[in-house]
Amino acid sequence: MSLPCVLSVAGFDPSGGAGLQADCKTIHALGAYALTVVTAVTAQNSRGVQAVYPLEDAAFGAQLAALGEDYQIGAIKIGMLSDAGKIATLARFLEQMPRVPVVLDPVLVSTSGTALLQPEALQTLITQLLPRCTLLTPNRPEMHYLAESIGCPLDQATHQSDLTHCMNKLGVKNLLLKGGHSQDADAGDWLLSTERNTETVTQSQWFRLPRLKVQHAHGTGCTLSAAIAVHLAQGQTLSQAVAHAKHFVHSALAQADQNQPLYRHITTAEAAKRRGGLHHFWKSDSLFE
Ligand code: PLP
Repeated sequence: MSLPCVLSVAGFDPSGGAGLQADCKTIHALGAYALTVVTAVTAQNSRGVQAVYPLEDAAFGAQLAALGEDYQIGAIKIGMLSDAGKIATLARFLEQMPRVPVVLDPVLVSTSGTALLQPEALQTLITQLLPRCTLLTPNRPEMHYLAESIGCPLDQATHQSDLTHCMNKLGVKNLLLKGGHSQDADAGDWLLSTERNTETVTQSQWFRLPRLKVQHAHGTGCTLSAAIAVHLAQGQTLSQAVAHAKHFVHSALAQADQNQPLYRHITTAEAAKRRGGLHHFWKSDSLFE
C-alpha cells in the first residue's frame, strides 16, 4: 500500500517542537508520508529562538526540484518562509502543480519574539503566495497584522464583513481564523469561505473544543496546519479536515505536559517558562502498553 505524500516547507527546529519536526511527526502520526524542505535553520530550545540562519535560495530550490520530479505530492503545508527569495522560488514551484491543496500557516514571529519572516518579505508573501493557497490559517494577531499591512485594519470584534473584505483584498478564498490567542473559555476556530474574487460567503463554520491549560504548547499552529494538509491529501473536505485536525491537536496538547523530554535541571521559576512541544504520538500509545 502506498502512503499519500504531504510536503512540509518550513523551518528547522532542533528542539523538535515546531517547524519541520512537528510537521514530520504529525504527518506520520496521521498515516501519510512526510516530505520536508527546509527554508532556514533555527537555533532554539524550549526557552526560545536564539538565532535564525536562512538557507541559500539555490539550496532551497534544489530540494523542491528533487522532490517534485519523484513524488506524487498530495498536499503542501507551508510554515516559516524566512525571506522573499524562498517565497518567489516556492511560488514558481507551485505553478507546476495547480491542483494540489496548499495550507499556509503565516508564521511571522516566534512566541519568544524572533522574526521568522523578514518584514520586507511580507508583501511578496501577500502577492505571490496567498492567492495560491487553499487555506490560510492565521491566529488573531497574525490576521490583524496581515489586514493592517494591506490597509484594512480589523477591530477586536472581527466582524464577518470586515474579514471577507480583507480576504478578497488578500486573494484568500478560505480562512481558518484560530482562536488560541483569545480569552474565551472554548478555543473556537472560525472557517470562512468565499467565492473567488468576491465577498460572497459560501461557508461559515465554528469549530469549538474546551480550552486546555497547557504549559508546553510550542508548535501548535504548525501541527494544526500539517494535520489539515494530511486530511486534504486523504481526500477529506475542508470542513472535515479542519474538524479532524483540531481533534488531533487537542489530544496532542492534552498530553503534552506529561510527555516532555528529560530537561537539564534549572530553577523552578526558570523551568516554568519552558515551552516544549506537543505529544504527537498520543494515538500510538496503545501500541506500547
Ligand atoms: N516554525 C519554526 C521553525 C519555529 O521555529 C517556530 C517558532 O519558534 C514556529 C514555526 C512557530 O511556533 P509556535 O506555533 O510555537 O509559535
